Amino acid sequence: MTAYRSGVPDNWFVDPVNLGVPGVRRVDTDGDDNALAWQTDALCAQTDPEAFFPEKGGSTRDAKRICTSCDVRGECLEYALQNDERFGIWGGLSERERRKLKRRAV
Ligand code: SF4
Repeated sequence: MTAYRSGVPDNWFVDPVNLGVPGVRRVDTDGDDNALAWQTDALCAQTDPEAFFPEKGGSTRDAKRICTSCDVRGECLEYALQNDERFGIWGGLSERERRKLKRRAV
C-alpha cells in the first residue's frame, strides 16, 4: 500500500518553460517559425563547445576556423546580432567583432 503518495496532487509537475524560469526557453515546435532551427546543422554542436566560449583572453582561433566550414554561418550570425548575444563566437565573429559590425550597420 502506498499511502504516503496519497497527498501528491496529479498536477505536481510544473513545466519550467510555462513558469518563465530564466534560461529556459520556450521551444517553438512550429517548424518554420523556429528561430533556432538552423542549430540542427551547426557544426559547433559536433565539436568542443568550450572553444566557442573561451575564458577571457583565451584563443578563439579554433572556433573561428570551424565556423568557416559551417553551413549555417549566416543564420548563426544573424541570430546573434538580432538577439544581442554577448558571449562567445557566433557566425565566426567574437563579441567585439559583432559589436563593430553592428556599429557599422547603424
Ligand atoms: S557559424 Fe560557428 S558558431 Fe555558428 S553554428 Fe556554425 S560553427 Fe557554430
